[in-house]
Amino acid sequence: AKAEGKGVARRFDPTQFAAAEQRRREEADLCRALDDGEFEVYYQPIVDLDGERTVGVEALVRWNHRERGMLPPAAFLDMAETLGLLPRLGGWVLEEACRQAAVWQAQAPGFELNVNLSASQLGNPALIDEVRAVLERTGLPPALLVLELTESVALVDLIESARVLGALKQLGVRIALDDFGTGFSSLSHLGTLPVDVVKIDKSFVQAMQESNGASVAEAVLQIARTFRLAPVAEGVEDATQASRLRELDCAQAQGYHFARPMPAVDLTALLTRQAAL
Ligand code: C2E
Ligand code: CA
Ligand code: CA
Ligand code: CA
Repeated sequence: AKAEGKGVARRFDPTQFAAAEQRRREEADLCRALDDGEFEVYYQPIVDLDGERTVGVEALVRWNHRERGMLPPAAFLDMAETLGLLPRLGGWVLEEACRQAAVWQAQAPGFELNVNLSASQLGNPALIDEVRAVLERTGLPPALLVLELTESVALVDLIESARVLGALKQLGVRIALDDFGTGFSSLSHLGTLPVDVVKIDKSFVQAMQESNGASVAEAVLQIARTFRLAPVAEGVEDATQASRLRELDCAQAQGYHFARPMPAVDLTALLTRQAAL
């Protein structure tokens, strides 16, 4: 290729130009959607494995896009984080979910709420004041709020994370380590981070069928017990997995076998049916 050919390519590559253009459109669309209130919170039940009653929910964000329909977090969360929009989006999810969970207390006293925290939220110095203010505004008792974060989020700055989580716990909220067991050195952090709950990653639950799979799940549960952490199994998709987890003394679980994430109105209906039982 000739030298000037390369120079031309650097100035204008139609494929790259189209990709950059597409990205700019998506970014603008995401900002617009935040202003237009196109985001929704879905709630997935967390059940008590004995009795299978719904004892709480995990809040999971959705984008109800005006043209593309309901989008899962995988379609927009990374971009929102890159654009610095997650503190705003995450703050909205927290307030909306706390407001809803406070309403559910009338139907189901003690009903718990789990909310995910992103790396940028944890790194935001205003987080502690924001959580305190949201609890005050919504009236949700702090003991009913569980903030979930993954190891990779906590590991951005372990010492700082430990300090922020400690301050959050002072407010009375609990902390859950999400996707537990998938990180490289989960054990070393359990001593440093003030964690109350571990969410056993779905990969362990789904591997229970395979040979040795049950012993891996058992080992992960044993670690939780050793550190006096309450385990919640994630991604439970069938009755066999549920009964094995029950045998392993895992108290709580979440997964399609019990219920999929759903809009608030459907969760209200579920609580009404449950109260009538
Ligand atoms: P996560 O925190 O690990 O949430 C659990 C994910 O597993 C959810 O996906 C849920 O729908 C899915 N799931 C539940 N039961 C089953 C099952 O039985 N089988 C399988 N295969 N999957 C199951 P979703 O809603 O698409 O969320 C994906 C991730 O996006 C979440 O993973 C979380 O990391 C992130 N996310 C969702 N909402 C928020 C939010 O408000 N803030 C932040 N920072 N992250 C969020
Ligand atoms: Ca989670
Ligand atoms: Ca998880
Ligand atoms: Ca995850």
